Amino acid sequence: MKVVVTGGAGFIGANVVEKLIDRGVEKVVVLDDLSSGYRANIEGFDVEFHEGSILDRALLGQVVQGADSVIHLAARPSVPRSIVDPVLSHEVNATGTLYVLEAARRHGSHVVLASSSSVYGSNPVLPKSETLRTAPISPYAVSKLATESYALAYQAVYDMSVLPFRFFNVYGPLQAPGHAYAAVVPSFISQALRGQPLTVHGDGCQTRDFTFVDTVTEALAISAIKRIASASAVNLAFGSRVSLLEVIKLLEKCLDRRLEVTHSDPRPGDVRDSMADDSLFKSLFPDVVAKPLELGLNETINWMRSSSFDRN
Ligand code: NAD
Repeated sequence: MKVVVTGGAGFIGANVVEKLIDRGVEKVVVLDDLSSGYRANIEGFDVEFHEGSILDRALLGQVVQGADSVIHLAARPSVPRSIVDPVLSHEVNATGTLYVLEAARRHGSHVVLASSSSVYGSNPVLPKSETLRTAPISPYAVSKLATESYALAYQAVYDMSVLPFRFFNVYGPLQAPGHAYAAVVPSFISQALRGQPLTVHGDGCQTRDFTFVDTVTEALAISAIKRIASASAVNLAFGSRVSLLEVIKLLEKCLDRRLEVTHSDPRPGDVRDSMADDSLFKSLFPDVVAKPLELGLNETINWMRSSSFDRN
């Protein structure tokens, strides 16, 4: 079996590469331009690595040729980054996805894709069921809605086998903390380990549905190996709703000390509350279970302590 992972040198990508190898996939191929990923993330794994962009259609065609499945994760991630450069966000996330789908269509490959809970945007209803109206409030969210919509349209008109997942807040080992657009969990842990105050955007009462990366990669690997398809996007989270202040409390418990907090302005484009309805996911993946947040945070802390995580 051959599985291509676009963005395979990134946080979720490198974790999924390891999972695919563990599950016995014979050929794992990574295409990554290393814009936010690291070659070191996949060092030591038996993978074929191509440094390049999904926007290079000739290279993409070569890489996807013969692939049973493509796990498409390459993207310009993060809401704030898309506000700084919305055009690039669109080019990589929307146009790039179209190119990946075209290559997969030519070669008969199944495609698993990464959309985002941000597509629910300003819709206040909780939990977020896939049938809710989408209401993106950032260029990133729009580009992710394009990602999943293109995939579903390709399924409808070309009878392709696709599975768009909506990731919520994924966290865990390999998630880079040391840059301006870092996600909240690695930022908090990195600041805590340095003895710095934790920076909270807004009041800290905003809520998120955190998902440990190993759970996400398990679902991705099963999807690729079994070529699972879905007629709609599927939430990949488990319906837990935790505020950032509660995350800090858990970190205090894990680290066994009080943590100082400073508050800065809320970030434009950030949604207030997020929590998945996981019934569709559970019907497709009854054996994939969530890791409790405290355990996942402990694993992430251990990884950060043992690695040279500050790459930037
Ligand atoms: P990441 O930045 O670690 O991974 C993205 C990878 O894509 C990087 O390795 C980067 O170098 C690569 N990439 C970027 N542009 C590329 C291009 N033009 N060609 C080839 N490679 C390119 O981020 P991540 O958190 O691992 O995100 C993976 C996917 O999951 C992304 O599509 C992201 O939008 C989506 N997602 C992540 C989360 C989360 O909580 N981490 C939430 C929702 C959606």
